[in-house]
Amino acid sequence: MPARLNLVVLGKQGAGKGTQCKRLATTYEIPHISTGDILRGAVKAGTPLGREVASVLESGALVSDDLVIQLVKERFDEPDAQRGGLLDGFPRTLGQAEALEVLLGADGIKLCVNLDVPIELVTERLSSRRVCQECGAIYRDSDVEAISGTCSNCGGDVVQRDDDQPDAIRRRLETYERDTEPLLAFYESRGLLVTVNGDQSPDEVTEAIEKVVRDRGLA
Ligand code: ADP
Repeated sequence: MPARLNLVVLGKQGAGKGTQCKRLATTYEIPHISTGDILRGAVKAGTPLGREVASVLESGALVSDDLVIQLVKERFDEPDAQRGGLLDGFPRTLGQAEALEVLLGADGIKLCVNLDVPIELVTERLSSRRVCQECGAIYRDSDVEAISGTCSNCGGDVVQRDDDQPDAIRRRLETYERDTEPLLAFYESRGLLVTVNGDQSPDEVTEAIEKVVRDRGLA
């Protein structure tokens, strides 16, 4: 069995983390672990966790470190995560990054990819983003699936996320700058940070990330 491969993907909201992590999860046969997806799933299912975090998610603020750290710990206990995982949306505070290091061990994280995209572009991407509530497929407002409201992948409802409204977008990007950008220096200091230009086609971004993984001998 290959060594464990844990990759952290950092980048502003709308940088393309979800899209890239889905592809890389298939390539490297490790699960895509998105704390945002886990939390939205809990809200949709109406679980106690979902009821606790619903209003926080809608506002665009962060849920508590303790809560997401616990969720990630539980996720890494599952059998499919024994080979590693692609972390999307976690860690996003220094406290979470430190907790992740404790959880996976000092050399548990092999790489941190920073998907770099200018703020004007992510703002435009987020405002026009529509998502399938069932399978998470991502569309633009001009796509036929967004106009009809039906996912061509699974038939689910295609909607705009509550936190893709203008006020919430602004709040989320401010939160990113304040709480998450310091993680770039954190991973840089450990020699794990690689910045990839996210303002390219999805295929080009995937190729760039796969090249880094190859060059570092990680897969
Ligand atoms: P985005 O990065 O586009 O804001 P996500 O899907 O990653 O979207 O997260 C959606 C929301 O879920 C966040 O705005 C926040 O409320 C909550 N969330 C997700 N991951 C974390 C985390 N690691 N720490 C705290 N809150 C989180």
